[in-house]
Amino acid sequence: MNVDIRKTHNYYEVLDSESLCHCNYCKNYCSQIKSAYPAVASYLSSLGIDIEKPFELSPLEPDENDMLEYCSCQYIAFGRCAEDFRHIIGQVEVCVASNYPNPGIAEDFFVLEFFPIRLKVLYPL
Ligand SMILES: [Zn+2]
Repeated sequence: MNVDIRKTHNYYEVLDSESLCHCNYCKNYCSQIKSAYPAVASYLSSLGIDIEKPFELSPLEPDENDMLEYCSCQYIAFGRCAEDFRHIIGQVEVCVASNYPNPGIAEDFFVLEFFPIRLKVLYPL
């Protein structure tokens, strides 16, 4: 991975929280992800990525225990990364996404993706 940490960090710093999605799936995620997955948060942080500002989340439906699984959590990073990049953090696998919405970025970037993430339902869905 050849991530431009400074550029990535700057992107997240100026990324307005108001421009993020505020649906309850995203609120559930953003309010808990850092405390529930501190090792993933600090790994992302070491790359300049703010875990509380996801690019795209793919939540499943909550189970009978009110746990919500996200089968994909995607983040923009600047620089380049091999398509077969893999990094394991506990039960969480980090890789490079191949499917994602067009972020409209002209510079070199890639989309990091990790899964699975399981969180409590705090905001009713
Ligand atoms: Zn949302």
